[in-house]
Amino acid sequence: MLNFTVGPVMCSDAVCAVGGEQVPYFRTPEFSALMLENEQLMLKFAKAPQGSRVAFMTNSSTGSMEATVMNCFTAADKVLVINGGSFGQRFTELCEIHEIPHDVLRLNHGQKLTKERLYEYDGKGYTGLLVNIDETSTGVLYDAEMLGEFCRKNQMFYVCDCVSAFLADPFDMAHCGADVMITGSQKVLACPPGVSMIVLAPRAVDRVNNANVKSMYFNLADVLKNMERGQTPFTPAVGILRQMNARLREIENAGGADAEIARVAAQAKDFRDKISALPFEFVSESPANGVTPVHPLHADAYEIFMELKDNYGIWICPNGGDMKSTVFRVGHIGHLTHDDNTTLINALKDMQAKGKL
Ligand SMILES: *Cc1c(COP(=O)(O)O)cnc(C)c1O
Repeated sequence: MLNFTVGPVMCSDAVCAVGGEQVPYFRTPEFSALMLENEQLMLKFAKAPQGSRVAFMTNSSTGSMEATVMNCFTAADKVLVINGGSFGQRFTELCEIHEIPHDVLRLNHGQKLTKERLYEYDGKGYTGLLVNIDETSTGVLYDAEMLGEFCRKNQMFYVCDCVSAFLADPFDMAHCGADVMITGSQKVLACPPGVSMIVLAPRAVDRVNNANVKSMYFNLADVLKNMERGQTPFTPAVGILRQMNARLREIENAGGADAEIARVAAQAKDFRDKISALPFEFVSESPANGVTPVHPLHADAYEIFMELKDNYGIWICPNGGDMKSTVFRVGHIGHLTHDDNTTLINALKDMQAKGKL
């Protein structure tokens, strides 16, 4: 199968090879060294400020979103949540579950966040901001620098869910002033799902170390303390962390974060150029590089997904909820090439010739 979803995505041969090996015991100096190398490369690729740390969590990224909300905010906060799709909605629900006072800046599907909209919330006593930099459900990229400036001005604790934006869209954690950056193993990092990273700037490290968290597994102070020696409090997804090491090294050897971002951007541009002749519309006003949401003008989006899966050996990414019939998404992350784009376009053209588009 050719996989154009937004995760899990296609892995490189090197990452697959590590996946075929025996999983080693992990309370060893060798595994600690690998974890500390993973941390260094993550900090470098995130352009994290001096003194930042990484929590490697064995959970999908929603677990890390939840851990961040639990460790970084309390009932004394007043948080602003940017909600333009299903991942913004997830942050909203997490604030509800953990009883964090919050307001929601709601955007329509595909709508970009303007400075005017954002500054309606200026000087209103907000203490924190939660945003999904690429709202993957609609492929909208929010401006991390604009949001960072707003947070600096209002002295807000700034949390960026970069799960699908990390290594797909430019992101400079030190420059934009993000306190927390969350990402996961199965998006641009193109490893199997199961591990998620929380990068914490010094201010966030202080905050989690002084938090009073009612959770054993999601206690980030405990995670960071163990990580000082390259370890985790509990058994991590050892195999995936070894694949992650192969992948991080692969990115480093191919020119680092900026080169990978350029590669994803070129993959997206190639697809968007090639698809323009077909009966589709783009959905996002401010498109992120990682994924293109597409609205079919004449056909049902979910039926296109099923047809490509069953008759062409191709996975695209269906949308859920009220966008199920109207929008499908095509990912540009993972081990994909421009020739793979051509294969997908040819399949769509074949469907069109058969009257299925
Ligand atoms: C994929 C993704 C997540 C995490 O989803 P999981 O299913 O928990 O891995 C969170 N936020 C964004 C923006 C995502 O794209």
